[in-house]
Amino acid sequence: MKLLSIIVPCFNEENSINLFYNEINETLKNIDINYQILFIDDGSNDNTLTTIKKLSIRYNNIKYISFSRNFGKESAIYAGFQYSKNCDYVVIMDVDLQDPPSLLPEMIDIIQNSNYDIIATRRVSRKGEPIIRSYFARLFYKIINRISNLELADGVRDYRIMTKEVANSILQLTEYNRFSKGLFSWVGFKTKWVEYENIERKTDESSWSFWELVKYSIEGIVAFSTLPLSISTFFGILISIIAFFFMIFIIIRNLLYGDPVQGWASTICIILLLSGIQLFSIGILGKYLEKTYLETKHRPIYIIKEFNID
Ligand code: UDP
Ligand code: MG
Repeated sequence: MKLLSIIVPCFNEENSINLFYNEINETLKNIDINYQILFIDDGSNDNTLTTIKKLSIRYNNIKYISFSRNFGKESAIYAGFQYSKNCDYVVIMDVDLQDPPSLLPEMIDIIQNSNYDIIATRRVSRKGEPIIRSYFARLFYKIINRISNLELADGVRDYRIMTKEVANSILQLTEYNRFSKGLFSWVGFKTKWVEYENIERKTDESSWSFWELVKYSIEGIVAFSTLPLSISTFFGILISIIAFFFMIFIIIRNLLYGDPVQGWASTICIILLLSGIQLFSIGILGKYLEKTYLETKHRPIYIIKEFNID
């Protein structure tokens, strides 16, 4: 029988672990597949690891990896792939049950009986989410689709099942700044989309603040598009053209009317505008330099403290 590895990143999720296990067990018990649940404890500082360990003593298909500190969900996913190399299929799921396990049987069925390599999910609604948050999320997908080669549908989730080949190809992308949604799209393969309505978190609050999401979006854009680097070139050309015509205008006006001293306010405005654009451009350059700097250090993507998997 085929072996499925369910990769579950957990950061301070002590209340969700058991609920999650029961739900998965209930869903998969009549399905013709062997599965393991691989919990990645992403440096939680509550009882997440203890809860997982208790579960792993009772059931031998519960595996875990525990990080030495919080490395982020992206690193957890990477670790999950690395430790699922002997499995035929890999699923990524959130532990908070926002990724409905009820879709799993269908996804498992499709991947086994069709020539799709990835069955991915997409939220078609964002009900229960703050309006501003949904608005910016939509805006982000619009921008990244326009300025990069990626095709990211609005509402794509990390929740997806994939074949071993896809998982291995993602492992080949060893970059330190990982934007998984982009990486999944980048490696290609044939993807089938399954859609569902948003489900609100069962326990606790989402651990992502609004600003963390903004930062995450910037990471995504910097990782998959170099267009922002051209912004300064664009402004440079535009301003030079304007300045050229302005110069001609001033010369002609000077010849016709002489040169009474005036225009202090407009000079200051122009200086401020240009300095603003220059600093903005340097900031963008800095962002890319920062990423390059971090990549060149070749630091490991995560550090493991303990695990129960070979
Ligand atoms: N998560 C993680 N590391 C982090 C933050 C989150 O492993 O630093 C896990 C978290 O435990 C959950 C999943 O990633 O299983 C999604 O997190 P959350 O539900 O907070 O995000 P949202 O659903 O709002 O995108
Ligand atoms: Mg969630």
